[in-house]
Amino acid sequence: MNLTSLIVSMICLGGLGALFSLGLALAHAKLQVYVDPRLENVVEELPGVNCGGCGYPGCSAFANAIISGMAEITACPVNTQDGITGISDIMGVQAEVKVKEYARVLCRGGNNETIPKADYRGIKTCIAAHLTFGGDKLCRYGCLGYGDCVSSCPFDAIQIDDNGLPRVNEDKCTGCGNCEEICPRSIIEIHPANHNLFIFCKSQDEAKYTRLVCTRACNGCKSCQKKAGEDKISVINNLARINYDIYGVVDEVPTTQCKNHAIDLLRNPFEMNPLNKKNHDSV
Ligand code: SF4
Ligand code: SF4
Ligand code: SF4
Repeated sequence: MNLTSLIVSMICLGGLGALFSLGLALAHAKLQVYVDPRLENVVEELPGVNCGGCGYPGCSAFANAIISGMAEITACPVNTQDGITGISDIMGVQAEVKVKEYARVLCRGGNNETIPKADYRGIKTCIAAHLTFGGDKLCRYGCLGYGDCVSSCPFDAIQIDDNGLPRVNEDKCTGCGNCEEICPRSIIEIHPANHNLFIFCKSQDEAKYTRLVCTRACNGCKSCQKKAGEDKISVINNLARINYDIYGVVDEVPTTQCKNHAIDLLRNPFEMNPLNKKNHDSV
């Protein structure tokens, strides 16, 4: 190769290099995605557990939604008040006060209170048992006790007790709602911490049947409805329901006639995990 060829080759290669660099620079300028500098800071104020309780697939997606104005800054049920205040500062909005919420287990029909229907030998999950033949208890509304709620909890806040009923540890529960969502019997509900009156039953069967299958069932007698008033408690399809918009924070149970204690205060030791005792005593 003579010197002229060498110089021509170098000029060509240099020209190509310059051309590709320009192309890459143009592509970068054209295709780059703008990342709001606040995003990283908002993510840092979130718990980082990616539980999905906010309705988004993870904390980053939720942070994006906040930045774009699609989500309320309080929509993460797991976040602390400090985290919410931090996001308020970043977004330049007023900090809202977060209302603490907990999972409440609204069935008292454990193994000792209910009559089994069959020896279930299928997959040991509540969803499988529920779908197979409505569960293995004669009550088709009660807790099945296979613990789908336990495995759905990202915070290790639920255990199944010796009687086959879930117990929620308030020290760990963040109110994320995963357990509520997964339960095929709608036994678990998320409630603000101050709600203390509950119907601990979901059965809509008639009294002549519930009497036979569970010693803790609501039998639809309407005593609570008569005492509290129909606007506060109403019995629909044999089951009492509390209107939490106007009722549910009380000093005492509205009736003494509920033989099965289907309506009761949360402070009743029946609901209490020993781990929670101090919390309930201070309610
Ligand atoms: S509360 Fe629901 S998910 Fe949990 S053990 Fe009972 S039936 Fe299963
Ligand atoms: S108990 Fe339920 S609401 Fe509480 S942290 Fe666990 S899954 Fe979430
Ligand atoms: S008093 Fe008890 S059994 Fe009667 S409707 Fe109310 S919760 Fe049900």
